Amino acid sequence: MDRSDDETNPQYQGLTGLRNLGNTCYMNAVIQCLCSVSPLVEYFLSGRYTASEDGEIATAFAYLMNDMWLGDFDCVSPEVFRLVIGERYPAFIKKTQQDAQEFLIYVLNELHEALKKVSHGTSRRRNQGTSSSVWESRGCVGESSIITRLFEGHLSYDIMCLECQTTTYKNEIFTVLSLPIPYETECSLEECLECFFQQDILTWNNQINCSCCGIKTDAAVRASIAKAPKIVIFHLKRFDCQGSYKKKLKTDIYYPLNNLDLSSYIYPLFRKNPKYSLFAVVNHFGDLDGGHYTAYCKHPPTQSWYNFDDSQISEIPDPSVQTSAAYLLFYSSQTFSVPVKNQNG
Ligand SMILES: [Zn+2]
Repeated sequence: MDRSDDETNPQYQGLTGLRNLGNTCYMNAVIQCLCSVSPLVEYFLSGRYTASEDGEIATAFAYLMNDMWLGDFDCVSPEVFRLVIGERYPAFIKKTQQDAQEFLIYVLNELHEALKKVSHGTSRRRNQGTSSSVWESRGCVGESSIITRLFEGHLSYDIMCLECQTTTYKNEIFTVLSLPIPYETECSLEECLECFFQQDILTWNNQINCSCCGIKTDAAVRASIAKAPKIVIFHLKRFDCQGSYKKKLKTDIYYPLNNLDLSSYIYPLFRKNPKYSLFAVVNHFGDLDGGHYTAYCKHPPTQSWYNFDDSQISEIPDPSVQTSAAYLLFYSSQTFSVPVKNQNG
């Protein structure tokens, strides 16, 4: 990319490649997607945040965001960030390919833990490594951070005992929704959503303990969104692992770039009809072990799409954003503006 005309031109801000440190493309792709979330970048550029004492990961992330947005580099190394995250999660220090979705969840959890403000009650750690954890374990409204404000949604499960018809409710928080892929060759994102939110019958090992019947019974369960997040991240479950049987689903999944409507999955009482636009994609090319991750991100200053392939960056036309390699989809209910550094911060 030619940057000779003006290094401080905002057109080039945020277009910084990431060096591959040995199979770290999964990490680079996720960092690029987070780096295109303007409100998150702005938060870290402003210096407003005060991380708790075990907040090295947040501090390292803040330095990385600064280098990527305000530095005059074509490419930076995420080495310090990888080292601090590897201290806590040794899998991420190994030079082997890891799952981008797992990495994303670790990063979001760690940033939340470092940046949360407890408004009341005692703080309790969230379950780690799962895309959703039981709502009650966080004391409902106890902890808030830039991560929960942007990415956290609530699911509500209606669970009906098929013996006595009694319905109970369970709430869960999520930052990533893992969607099943219902077809082998092609389908739409809406079909994946239908599949996720359709009623499910729990039998055999999945039976519930019905307090009315006093025994284990079959039940019908249906999920709906009780609180829609500002930014919703979908994980397309391409890696199909059942026991020792493993394969990658290469289904062509059609997803809209604009006007994704989630209202039919939102609990009627909380329905606000937000429309979501795609702003970032993590792609996975190749097979289960190995393979290669890249990211497509919409660049806030120019509103153009770019392909981030480790240290290489290239502009791509809008229709190229749709590929059968899509693995994580990032949608936002608001358009991002150019993140600004708060001088008072
Ligand atoms: Zn019952």
